[in-house]
Amino acid sequence: MTAFAELTSPQVAELLAGPRTPVLLLPVGAVEPHGPHAPLATDLLISAGMCQRAADRLAGDDLCVLVLPALDYGVTDMGAPFPGAISISPDTLCALIKDVCAALKRQGLDRIVVVNNHYEPAHVTALRTATKDAGVAYLDLLRRANVALLTDEFRSGSCHAGQYETSLVLADRPELVDTAVARELPPVLVDMPAAMSAGRKDFVEMGMDDAYCGTPAGATAAEGKSTFDTLTDLLVELIREVGRA
Ligand SMILES: [Zn+2]
Repeated sequence: MTAFAELTSPQVAELLAGPRTPVLLLPVGAVEPHGPHAPLATDLLISAGMCQRAADRLAGDDLCVLVLPALDYGVTDMGAPFPGAISISPDTLCALIKDVCAALKRQGLDRIVVVNNHYEPAHVTALRTATKDAGVAYLDLLRRANVALLTDEFRSGSCHAGQYETSLVLADRPELVDTAVARELPPVLVDMPAAMSAGRKDFVEMGMDDAYCGTPAGATAAEGKSTFDTLTDLLVELIREVGRA
C-alpha cells in the first residue's frame, strides 16, 4: 500500500517504529484550463502519476515511500480568462504546504518531497518559499540540469497543454483527452517565459486564444510514458537523497 491516507493510525505508528525510513511525497497541481482537449487537472495528474511510479519503483526498498493526499489547487491567475480556472492565492498555497509539513514533522515524519508540475511563476515562488521555510525537499523541475533531460517542447518554453503535457495525460488517463479535437489543433508557438518577462499577464495576452501552446496534435501515449520514466528517475534520485539525509 502506498497511499498514506489509506493507512490506519496504528499502521502509521508501526511505520514510525519500524526499520524502514518513511519518505512522504506531496503531489501538487492546479485546476487550470488546458486547451479544448485536456483536463483541468492535467498538472495534478502528472504530479500524482510520477509520485505513484516512484513509490511503486521503490516498493520493497529500505525506504518506505508513501504518497500523501494531493494538493489539487494552485495559483493559476494566467488561466483566469477561461472557464474552469480555480486559483488560490500564493499566501494560501504557502500556508497549506507549511501546515501540512509541520503536522507531519511533529509526528516524526520529517522526510517530505513536494512534487509540482504547474509552472506559473507565482505558484513556483510560493512552493519554493514554503518548502524552504518548512525544511522539506522540493523537486524543482525547472532547474537547468532537469530541464535538459526533458523534451524539446518543454525546453522551448512553448509547453502549456501541448505535446509534452498532453502526452503525459495520454499515458495515464487517455479517456480524459479529446484526441479528435487535439489532432486538429494547429501548433501555437509562444515562448511563455519570454512573454511573462515582457509583462503579459494571462494566456490571452500571450496569444494563447485557446488556452494552449505547443503542439498538442503531436501528443502520444508513448512519449508520455517515456517522459514519465525520466520524471520518475529524477524523483527517485531526490527521494534517495532525502532518505539518506
Ligand atoms: Zn499544465
